[in-house]
Amino acid sequence: MANQKRAYIHTWGCQMNEHKSEGIGGVLAQDGYELVSSPEEADLVIFNTCMVREKAEDKVYSEAGKIRLLRDKNPDLLLGIGGCMAQALGQKIFERSPAVDFVFGSSNVTDVPHLIREAQSRNGNGRHDEPVMALQKIPDRIEELPFVRESRFHAKVTITEGCSNFCSFCIVPYTTGLLRSRLPGDIMHEVSSLATQKYKEVQLLGQNVDSYGNDLDDPDINFANLLLALSQVDIPRVRFMSSHPKDITSKVIDVISEKNNICEHIHMAVQSGSDRILQEMRRGYTQIQFLELVDEIKSRVPGVSVTTDIIVGFPTETEHDFLDTVNLVEKARLGGAYIFRYSPRPGTISYYKYEDDVPQDEKMRRSNYLLDIQKKIIDEEHLKRVGKTEEVLVERPARIGGGRFIGKSRDNRTVIFPATSEMIGSFVHVLINEGSASGLMGTVMLS
Ligand code: SF4
Repeated sequence: MANQKRAYIHTWGCQMNEHKSEGIGGVLAQDGYELVSSPEEADLVIFNTCMVREKAEDKVYSEAGKIRLLRDKNPDLLLGIGGCMAQALGQKIFERSPAVDFVFGSSNVTDVPHLIREAQSRNGNGRHDEPVMALQKIPDRIEELPFVRESRFHAKVTITEGCSNFCSFCIVPYTTGLLRSRLPGDIMHEVSSLATQKYKEVQLLGQNVDSYGNDLDDPDINFANLLLALSQVDIPRVRFMSSHPKDITSKVIDVISEKNNICEHIHMAVQSGSDRILQEMRRGYTQIQFLELVDEIKSRVPGVSVTTDIIVGFPTETEHDFLDTVNLVEKARLGGAYIFRYSPRPGTISYYKYEDDVPQDEKMRRSNYLLDIQKKIIDEEHLKRVGKTEEVLVERPARIGGGRFIGKSRDNRTVIFPATSEMIGSFVHVLINEGSASGLMGTVMLS
């Protein structure tokens, strides 16, 4: 269509933010925008930001500078910043980056069309002296966001927003607010509609899915019961993330082990193996409790993969504390670990309580050391899969090319195999003939 408005959205951060961008895309589509895949093609650029790590925040400002350069060719190009950074920093964003036209909070997605008009009305070309912002605390209702889903077979479904845990290092409760659970009926309605549209996989999202329902006044509304209800819906795979070691219940483990469409993957951040550091982080469990929990899950859910997040270099972390984390990683033999170097976030408890006293090069050494151990564990575990068959949902062509495609096993491992684009979005059985830390390789078995 001639003169169609075009928008480009860039997302930083977690899967919840990726899903929020699908909501922003839907709001823009309703407002007459076509979504494009680069800022060079766009009349409007939206950065959906993350504040969990300092690095992502710096990157937003440097990318905003690049957008400014694009205005030499397209002076009407607008830049809006949304998400956690916008929520936490508000007006300060304009002070740091004059390229920004408007700012909207994590819960103000439906305000975006109005903000665009407001920004356009300033100075005729969008530049302005007064900040254009929407940072109200009354959240958008998820049911009212017209999501434009990126995939036609995998759908993300938010079940909670915010978090009431206040782990000492974490900015989430300050940027997205306290725990807010969606009603089970609304979630069931969304997932049933996805089933009708023949989606193959649904991924339930929450900062801590195991806290689902804690803010609602009904003890029957909890994560185990939600999974049970979803096990009745005609969706072949239901995944979820993230779980919390202090909140996951025995009943949740039962449902994963008993119900066919609930996938055997639990992403459960441990963060540290040192009891002292876990206490400083306000995590609510010890190393032994975590290891016992992993053992219990592995013994009750055949074929399960437990993955985790770890922070190294939390303030005051000594070599002794770090070796406790090494010990935990070696004992738990997890299916994967994202290892992060501590980064102080203004507003959090640890930011005010401690100096960031572990030097950067020491954080890097600890991170690399753990990565090496975890890589060796995955190498060994993946070698054990050689000769076995995995059910795989085919996702996309693999970057390595050669007619190979990439998909995920039920326990969320990456599987690479020769396939054709017609297979995308369908299930195949792959015979594994090679396994390493980068994934499982195999061939599709013909039925
Ligand atoms: S559980 Fe802790 S780390 Fe996770 S979002 Fe909540 S406060 Fe942050």
